[in-house]
Amino acid sequence: MSVQPNVASLASTVVKSGATPALAAETVPLTAPQARRFEPLPMPDLTWTPEVERATAHLYEKVSRVIPSIEWPFFAPYIKAINEAKKLRDAVILGHNYMTPEIFHCVSDFVGDSLQLAKLAAKTEAKVIVQGGVHFMAETSKLLSPDKIVLMPDMKAGCSLASSITGADVRALREAYPGRPVVAYVNTSADVKAEVDICCTSSNAVAVVESLGVPEVIFVPDQYLARNVAAQTKVKIIAYKGACEVHERFTAEELRRYRETDPNLKIIAHPECPRDVVLEADFTGSTKGMIDWVKDNRPARVMLVTECSMADNVAVETPGVEFVRPCNLCPHMKRITLPKILDSLIHMRTEVTIDEALAVRARRSVERMVNLKH
Ligand code: SF4
Repeated sequence: MSVQPNVASLASTVVKSGATPALAAETVPLTAPQARRFEPLPMPDLTWTPEVERATAHLYEKVSRVIPSIEWPFFAPYIKAINEAKKLRDAVILGHNYMTPEIFHCVSDFVGDSLQLAKLAAKTEAKVIVQGGVHFMAETSKLLSPDKIVLMPDMKAGCSLASSITGADVRALREAYPGRPVVAYVNTSADVKAEVDICCTSSNAVAVVESLGVPEVIFVPDQYLARNVAAQTKVKIIAYKGACEVHERFTAEELRRYRETDPNLKIIAHPECPRDVVLEADFTGSTKGMIDWVKDNRPARVMLVTECSMADNVAVETPGVEFVRPCNLCPHMKRITLPKILDSLIHMRTEVTIDEALAVRARRSVERMVNLKH
């Protein structure tokens, strides 16, 4: 590849600090109802009391297999406060599959992968979306819900894959490979989505590539997903050099060692993993595909080769399945915590907005994929 990945610029995104209503109003003009919503809520009492215990008992019952009882008195007051605050804010919380179980199972209104979440949030009547996930996901939510307020509990929750490429990098690729359409994985900024022809997910990438009806496409930014797609199609793939720092760390050797300890262990991998890891696995699929596979097949022991919170979240719903956890944490996803979600709802911060001209172009790439008949 002649083009090197750069650190992505977030210049396309206008960050409107919600630190104070006055600042928010200065940065982006708000309608009167919106401005009222930016008034901070009173800080709730976060003491662990018998009342909190009673109010959250049904939730603890759900997650007791993966959250030790000693931790619950810390989580429960936040969970109760968040579930009350989101009603006052007319908000929904989106919980990505990589959120920790207390977020995923106890405060999220919708759970799933980033595109599933953005599509579900767009259909709700709620006025506010709190993104339990990373920044590019909040941008995707905003693209599909332009009239809603999208909040990021921590604006530093980025992504090594999304930050590996910028819109300028895509333009450079087009110059280096003229005439080739560009397909972008949804794990990209709005800046990048605005420059490409169509987006894809890890589950529809092959179909999207083949839908273009050309012999050669540029595929950004994940080099491993690109290789895994190339192995399933006759279309020649020009790959970029981006990688997910979580999935890139798995090795085929590591998987073989696990298998030696238990020949009946089922190994299922995400296609952001290197090719030799995928070849070592019994099944490869998107996060949704992996979850469905476990639910449908109910293996006695399974290893999910992906971010490790997902195993906890699936374990809650699949009693009887033992999960082997080769724990690779995503440090960006782990920036999202209950205290930050509560802070986000109380202060209505931090809102993610996208320049409208750029949003129109970025939305078009997402909608082309969504409208594709598979
Ligand atoms: S798991 Fe990988 S792709 Fe997902 S947010 Fe973390 S770094 Fe990005």
